[in-house]
Amino acid sequence: MAATSITSEVDFNATGKQTAFLRVPHSVHRSAYGWIPVPITCIQNGEGPTLVIMAGNHGDEYEGQIAVSNLARSLDAADIRGRLILLPMVNAPAAEAGLRTSPIDSGNLNRSFPGSATGTPTEMIAHYVEEVLMPLADYSVDLHSGGSSLYYPPTLLRGQGHSPEETKALVGLQDAFDLPYAWVFTSGGGRSSTARTAMGAANRKGVVNVMAELGGSGVVTPEILQRTERGLRRILNSLGMLPDYQLDARRGTRELNAQGSVYAYSAGLFEPLKAIGDEIKVGETVGLIHHPETPGSEPDKITSPYAGIALCQRAMAQVVRGDAVFQIASDAEPEAHKA
Ligand SMILES: [Zn+2]
Repeated sequence: MAATSITSEVDFNATGKQTAFLRVPHSVHRSAYGWIPVPITCIQNGEGPTLVIMAGNHGDEYEGQIAVSNLARSLDAADIRGRLILLPMVNAPAAEAGLRTSPIDSGNLNRSFPGSATGTPTEMIAHYVEEVLMPLADYSVDLHSGGSSLYYPPTLLRGQGHSPEETKALVGLQDAFDLPYAWVFTSGGGRSSTARTAMGAANRKGVVNVMAELGGSGVVTPEILQRTERGLRRILNSLGMLPDYQLDARRGTRELNAQGSVYAYSAGLFEPLKAIGDEIKVGETVGLIHHPETPGSEPDKITSPYAGIALCQRAMAQVVRGDAVFQIASDAEPEAHKA
């Protein structure tokens, strides 16, 4: 096993269900020998692949945290074939605070991979995920949402795959998750990835992996939570890990390629003129920025440099120059390996 400063209370080789903590060493004024608890559940039974499901990579993205906790509570070893490793709040300090980044070290976990065994708590967690958990895994799922500042409809994110076999496996996970949208990356991935994300970590270790964006705006909706839990169980079933799950009919996924984000260039209050899923043309006005501090002044128009549909929208009305207000995506080009 790779050098790590983190101790696991669960034995990844044991059969059965264990729920305990990863101990991230944290020696501070009020606790000289203390550690930060990162909750973890490992469920292992019989032959099958290893799947790692993470949520709380960003602490203000809540749907995944609840869905993964519900899985950890409701699944028993007898339900599972293979090994399921669940981390409902992988950057635990950020999740505990309800913040995108850790209040301890300001670390953004999804910009911290490959991390460091001797770094800050966030860097130690990144290193543990990349060097200890990913080498155990055949598959991984990293659950996100738009967080406090953005909103996404339920959307799967994946690479195109670097071989026909990998593409088939990724499309299999996408079909199993069965979310309304899939954002298919047109570059990157593979073992030579330099991405500082959990997806980069998984790709560097050869783990077949997907992400999902599941709502956001700092709230949880029952519909998205239900869609998330259904999708995770369907993935387990598709991998042969949850054989007794009763599948319902697939609802279908619209595959998209991201075109780019539309940004605010002035400070004020953002009024969206488009909704998620609306068609947008190049140069079209997609929103206004109002200036109530200067009554009588005209609002600034925000125009889109891209054509496509609105995939993601800013959730907060207050904007400053540099804030993304929409992300635009267009229907996916056919994939090389898929034909
Ligand atoms: Zn996120």
